[in-house]
Amino acid sequence: MTGPHHHDVLVIGGGNAGISLAAKLRRDGCRDVAVVEPKDVHEYRPLLSYVAGGMATLDDLRRPQAEAMPPGVRWYQDAVTAVDPARSAVRLASGGELTYTDLAVCPGSQVDWDAVPGAQDAVRAGSASTSYLPEHAPATWDLLSSLTSGTAVFAISDRHVPCAPVGLKPLFLAADHWRRTGVLDAITIELLLEGDRLVDLPESDRELRAAAEEYGVRVRTSTAVEHVDGPARRLRLRTPQGPDELAYDALYVAPPHRAPQWLASSGLTSPASDGFLAVDPQTLQHRDHPHVWGLGDAAEVDALPSGGALRKQVPVVAHNIAARRTGATMRHYDGYSVGPVTTSRSRLLLAEFDRGGRPEPTVRVPDLARPRRSLLVFDRYLEPQIYWRRLLRGHVS
Ligand SMILES: Cc1cc2nc3c(=O)[nH]c(=O)nc-3n(C[C@H](O)[C@H](O)[C@H](O)COP(=O)(O)OP(=O)(O)OC[C@H]3O[C@@H](n4cnc5c(N)ncnc54)[C@H](O)[C@@H]3O)c2cc1C
Repeated sequence: MTGPHHHDVLVIGGGNAGISLAAKLRRDGCRDVAVVEPKDVHEYRPLLSYVAGGMATLDDLRRPQAEAMPPGVRWYQDAVTAVDPARSAVRLASGGELTYTDLAVCPGSQVDWDAVPGAQDAVRAGSASTSYLPEHAPATWDLLSSLTSGTAVFAISDRHVPCAPVGLKPLFLAADHWRRTGVLDAITIELLLEGDRLVDLPESDRELRAAAEEYGVRVRTSTAVEHVDGPARRLRLRTPQGPDELAYDALYVAPPHRAPQWLASSGLTSPASDGFLAVDPQTLQHRDHPHVWGLGDAAEVDALPSGGALRKQVPVVAHNIAARRTGATMRHYDGYSVGPVTTSRSRLLLAEFDRGGRPEPTVRVPDLARPRRSLLVFDRYLEPQIYWRRLLRGHVS
C-alpha cells in the first residue's frame, strides 16, 4: 500500500461477526465496506464440537475465505496490530494504515493457555484435548473414543469461553458412544464446571443434569482446574471446599479465553471489561469512542458469547451505525444467546435466553429447551447451510 486508504465502514475480523455485519451493511445500502482478515480459510466453528464427537470432519466446516466474503466488500488479507481512535486509523501487520468513518471491531477471542498452567503441554502430549482449537478437535475424538476404562474428566471454564455450554457436547457424544460400545460402566466420568450451572436456562439445566445422571456423570460446580500435570495425568483443583486433586486417563478442556492484547494497548478496553472491548452492552457502541463498535466474542456485552447471539447483535450494530449519523433512535441488544447441547448422539436441546437468564425461544412450539431428535439434525446438518447461505449473506433482522 502506498498511502492511507479510507473506508466508510471498516470491519476488523472476517469471522462470523465481521462477515455477517459487512454483508448486512451492504444489504442496507452502505457502499463502502472493507474487512481486514488474515486467514484465507473461513471456519463454521460450531461443527468443531461434532468433530470432537466423531460426527463431522474439518473439511465439513471449512471454505475459502474468498467465498465467505460478501459481494462488493473490499478484503484486506492482513492483520490489525493497533487502532488509533483519535485519528480514526488502524495499523496493519504489513505496515500499512487504513482510516475509517466507523469501525467495527470483531477479532474474536483466543485460548488463554497461561490461565491453566500445564494444560497446553498436556494437549500437545496427547493426554488432554480440546474442541476449541481446530488442530486439536479430531484428536479429541481419538482420545475419547479409544478410552475403554478409567477416568474421563471434562473441564469447562466460565472465563469468556465462546458458547461455553457446547463444551458439553463432546461429553455427551462420548458417553453415548461408551454406552453403545458397552464400556460405560468401566469409565468414571467427571464434569468440572467453573460456573454454577450447565447452561443459563433453568429448564435446560435440569434436562442436562438428568441426562448426565443417566450416564453416571459426577457433576461438580464452582470447580476450576488450576494446574494440569500431563505426564502424571493429575489435576490440581480449586473447589468450594478448598484445594483438591484428581487423577485422569483422558482430559477434555473448554479453556479460558482472552481478548487480543492490542485492544488494551489501543485504549479500547476498560478496567471493568477484563481486556475485552468496552462497549455499551445495549447499543454496542464503544463507551469512549462513538465511531467504534464492538460485537462478537471480543466485545464485553454482559452476555454469553455465541454465534446465535450475533443474529441479534449484527442488525443492532448495522442500524446504530446509521442512527449515529442521522440522529435516529438507537436499537438495543437484549443479551440474547444460545446454548445448543447434545444429550446423546441423536438428541439435542436448544437453550435460548436473554441477559437475565429468562427464556427467549425463537419458536414457542415445540419446546426447544428439551432434547429432540429433530434439533440434532437441525444443528448438525441444516444450521451450517443457513450459516453459509443466509447469516454470512447478511440475512438477519
Ligand atoms: C468449538 C466451538 C463451538 C462453538 N459452537 C457454537 C454453537 O454451537 N452455537 C453458537 O451459537 N456458537 C458456537 N460457538 C461460538 C461461535 O463460533 C462464536 O461466538 C463466533 O464465531 C464469534 O464470532 P466472532 O466473529 O466474534 O469471532 P471469530 O469467529 O473467532 O472470528 C474472528 C476473526 O477475526 C480474525 N482476526 C483475529 N485477529 C485479527 C486481527 N488482528 N486483525 C484482523 N482480523 C483478526 C480471525 O482470524 C477470525 O477470522 C462455538 C465456538 C467454538 C470455538
